[in-house]
Order: sequence, then C-alpha cells, then structure tokens
Amino acid sequence: MSVLVTGGAGYIGSHTVAELLTRGEEVVVLDSLQTGHRGAVLVEYYYQGDVRDTDLLQRVFTDHEIEAVIHFAASSLVGESVTDPLKYYDNNVVAVQRLLAAMNRHGVKQIVFSSTAATYGEPLRTPIEEEDPTEPTSPYGETKLAIEKMLAWCDRAYGIKSVSLRYFNAAGAHPDGWIGEDHQPETHLIPIILQVALGQREHVAIFGDDYPTEDGTCIRDYIHVMDLAQAHYLALQRLRSSGESGIYNLGNGTGFSVKQVIEKCREVTGHPIPSVVSPRRPGDPAVLIASSQKAKRELGWTPRYADLGTIIESAWNWHRRHPLGFGGGTGGSR
Ligand code: NAD
Ligand code: UDP
Repeated sequence: MSVLVTGGAGYIGSHTVAELLTRGEEVVVLDSLQTGHRGAVLVEYYYQGDVRDTDLLQRVFTDHEIEAVIHFAASSLVGESVTDPLKYYDNNVVAVQRLLAAMNRHGVKQIVFSSTAATYGEPLRTPIEEEDPTEPTSPYGETKLAIEKMLAWCDRAYGIKSVSLRYFNAAGAHPDGWIGEDHQPETHLIPIILQVALGQREHVAIFGDDYPTEDGTCIRDYIHVMDLAQAHYLALQRLRSSGESGIYNLGNGTGFSVKQVIEKCREVTGHPIPSVVSPRRPGDPAVLIASSQKAKRELGWTPRYADLGTIIESAWNWHRRHPLGFGGGTGGSR
C-alpha cells in the first residue's frame, strides 16, 4: 500500500516525503513542478503532471494501491490570489474536487490536507484555537476554507476521512541541509532576509511598522518544516487508527515580530542585514499565533525544533550550501 503525495516536490511536501521514507512508508509523488523542484524528491514512483488531470489521476490510482493521500499541491500566494482569484479557485478547489472524485471511485478513504492560518483572517483573540471564527481576508484563505468544508461533506456522503492541518508560518530546512525552501519569486520573510545575508539583495523591506504591536511590526508564529512533516505522519497514523476526521492548528504558540526575526537572523549569520521600512502589505493581520494544544493532545505531536534560532540556523545551512536553490544544480544532493 502506498501514500500518494501531491505537491511532493514543493517546499513542505518534499520534507514530508523525506520524513515518510524515513518512517518506512511507500510513497508515490504527483507534482506539476509549477513551483516545485524535481531535485527535491528522491522517490521511485514519481508522476509529473497536474492534479486536475483526471486521466492522470485514473492512471496513478490504477497503477498503485493507494491507501491514503496527502495533498499539498496548491497555489498559495495571498497577494496573487487577490489579483487572480479564479486561478486559486481552479488550482485549489477544482483540483481537490477532482482528487476526491478519483479517491471515491477507487475506494480511497483517507486524506491529509494542507490548510492554513489564512482561514482565520484577522483573529479576534490570541492564541487562535480551531473553533475560533474563520473569516478569510483573501481568496487564498477562502479556497482553503472551502476545501475544508468540501472534505466535511465528503466525509458525510462517502465516508472519506480527512485531517486538515492549518499551518502557521513554515520555515527552516532539513537538518541534513540537502533540501530547503526555494520559491521563485521568494515572498517569505526568512528566506528573503537570508538572501540579504548572502549578498543577493541589498536590504529587507519591513512591511509596515505602525501595527498595534510592541515594535510596530507584524507578529507571526514560525514553525519548522520538519515539525510539520512529523505532524503529517502522525495525522496519517490517526486516520489509520481512529478513522476520525479533524482540523488542527500547527504552530509553536510563540510570536516573533518582523524586527525580532531580522535581529535573530543577524545573530545567526553575523551579517548586518540592512532593513528599510516600507508600506504595509495588503491583507496582513497584525498578529497570528497558534494554539496547537489540540494537535499535541490528539495527534501526539511534539515539535522538535521550536526555537527560532534553531529554525533560522537550519534555513541558513540550506541557503549557504545552495545559494541558487535547486536551480544551482546542487540542491537535492545529499
Ligand atoms: P510549494 O509551492 O513549495 O509547493 C506546492 C507544490 O505543489 C509545488 O511542488 C507545485 O509544483 C505543486 N503543484 C501546485 N499545483 C499543482 C497541481 N495543480 N498539480 C500538481 N502539482 C501542483 O508550497 P509550500 O510552501 O510547500 O506549501 C505546500 C502547501 O502548504 C500548500 O497547499 C500551501 O497552501 C500550504 N501552506 C503553506 C504555508 C507556508 O508557510 N509555506 C503555510 C500554510 C499553508
Ligand atoms: N514580511 C516583511 N518583508 C518581506 C516579507 C514579509 O516585512 O519581505 C512580513 C509580512 O508582512 C508578514 C511576515 O513578514 O508580517 C511574514 O510574512 P511571510 O510572507 O513570510 O508569511 P505570511 O505571514 O504572509 O504567511
């Protein structure tokens, strides 16, 4: 029996594939490479193609005895989703509708889904719990929430059980430094700061310093990508053992401001990392911090790399060794 991982060549997907292989799972990856990298996955069964391609799904589900699906494949840029919402409804919602239809045709009853803190929108309280209101402020968050709801209805109708994992800010890289974050263009804070340390950018722009926080910059909850990977394995185990659907936040429960993250990167890299205060980025809530008590209680999740310095050190290890990411031809080599 195999686990189908869609988007397995992406940032979080590739780290989860590595974790699954370490745990002895048989893995099949399906990825279009629209943002992923072939060099990020070392698996025997790899299909390059689109989740929305129903003929391809038919082939994958026929060629392999798929026990469960972990679905990472998505478009995930908040800003782009505001200017091109239909791309997001298509690549996120339509893709899951086709994937679930294929699962249903082939009797596959378990799925782990990449959801997001963006389903909450501007939170009413901190830390955020799973039962708190979900009022997304972007089409990206809306599509992820729509998928969570689609999964709930498919549980009732077809008995497809799902675990939706609402990640907060994924960061860091594999401890061996052979895979890491490589988005083109890069929009995430930590890799952008580290690109300054590598001399690839002159400065980092701080998007707003007039938020209602202590130093005026946005506060986020950074979670190591390998801790996310561990959570996917545990979610799979929960589906296998209890067969119950659920929604879980994944974060460390501690918030760091943009200025604090820059300062920590200065400590780790020894580089002055110039910064320039710039206008706010539309759609950014001031503070996003997770309560992950439910994941700890019900999944037995124990983050191993909770310290921000450790998270940044692992990212720095990857970026220093692979300054051009996977495009440099060295990414993916152990
Ligand atoms: P990523 O862009 O690195 O990975 C996505 C992967 O999916 C890529 O390899 C891409 O080629 C593939 N893909 C996209 N659409 C596809 C399609 N239609 N068919 C086949 N493959 C397709 O993104 P990531 O940062 O690894 O995020 C993974 C998931 O986690 C996404 O669903 C994202 O919305 C979610 N998420 C990410 C974060 C974060 O901080 N990075 C936070 C919350 C949620
Ligand atoms: N940010 C910033 N400068 C950048 C990129 C991000 O100030 O070049 C801020 C952003 O406004 C947010 C935080 O850093 O408050 C984290 O942003 P990121 O894009 O990494 O993740 P998001 O919170 O959007 O998921």
